[in-house]
Amino acid sequence: EAQREGGARIRLFDTLMLQRTRRRTDLENDLRRAIGTPELHVVYQPVVRLADGAVEAVEALVRWQHPLHGALSPVEFIGIAEDAGLIGALGQVVLATACREFAQWRQRYPERGPRLLAVNLSRGQLPEPTLVTGIEDILRDTGMPAGALQLEVTESLAAQDEAVQMRLHELKRLGLTLALDDFGTGYSSLASLYQLPVDLLKIDRSFVSQLETSAHHRVLVEATIKVAKSLNFRTVAEGIETVGQAEILRAMDCDKGQGYLFARPLQTDAFEAWLQQRQPSWRG
Ligand code: C2E
Ligand code: MG
Ligand code: MG
Ligand code: MG
Repeated sequence: EAQREGGARIRLFDTLMLQRTRRRTDLENDLRRAIGTPELHVVYQPVVRLADGAVEAVEALVRWQHPLHGALSPVEFIGIAEDAGLIGALGQVVLATACREFAQWRQRYPERGPRLLAVNLSRGQLPEPTLVTGIEDILRDTGMPAGALQLEVTESLAAQDEAVQMRLHELKRLGLTLALDDFGTGYSSLASLYQLPVDLLKIDRSFVSQLETSAHHRVLVEATIKVAKSLNFRTVAEGIETVGQAEILRAMDCDKGQGYLFARPLQTDAFEAWLQQRQPSWRG
């Protein structure tokens, strides 16, 4: 009896595994086809200076509107792109699209528009031999100054190994800004931070969301900002949703903030409308 039940359980397990593998293979094929079509597009989330609310930067975030499954999260399909060897192509499309749109905003809104364009790089993109030349090509083709580009890699990735760190130095030599994303979720020692060619720490949303309720998190964030400052890193807090969180961060002297309080990630047109109607007030 027990054995039979076990057998049934294994068959059910196999079926679930098979379904999952199928969905993944299907998504891989769909993604291969979707790259370069409007199914994959870029949305933009502003980053503001906490001292006065001025728009400092805009982060490009990829979106996939799948014909069958609807809106898929990058958290799900970036991993698929990496496994399928598609991450290089995907990254190039995102970067080229974002640079092109950003160039227009620089022309139309030289005063109130963002000064920096932030684009994410994932684990699988860093070892690609064509990464650096690919970025150089896109910068040249879109007329994007390297000084206006910020690339973001997660803290856990940057702390990883020497090859990754050499890559970061190569990127830095292009003259762009490097940010450590999701800071606080990895385990980089202060010593390793000091060696990284990084300009900016993005304090992870998991800390920001607890600022009003947890003294422990307040202490951690305040200490992080102090250390960052003394090592000459700028700081950005991500995932700010309330005025209270923004006030605490501003009092801690955090440089910039990003989150739903200011704006959600917006389609191109909506971002432009947001820029136009925006009253520079730090309350969002
Ligand atoms: P990330 O770079 O840390 O981006 C911030 C994420 O937090 C975004 O999720 C954004 O929509 C979300 N977020 C921003 N403000 C708030 C807030 O106030 N509350 C909450 N709850 N969430 C907020 P998204 O767009 O789903 O992206 C998730 C991650 O996927 C990104 O994290 C990034 O690591 C990766 N990613 C996104 N776009 C790209 C891309 O074009 N290329 C690569 N390689 N990775 C990307
Ligand atoms: Mg990011
Ligand atoms: Mg982040
Ligand atoms: Mg994050």
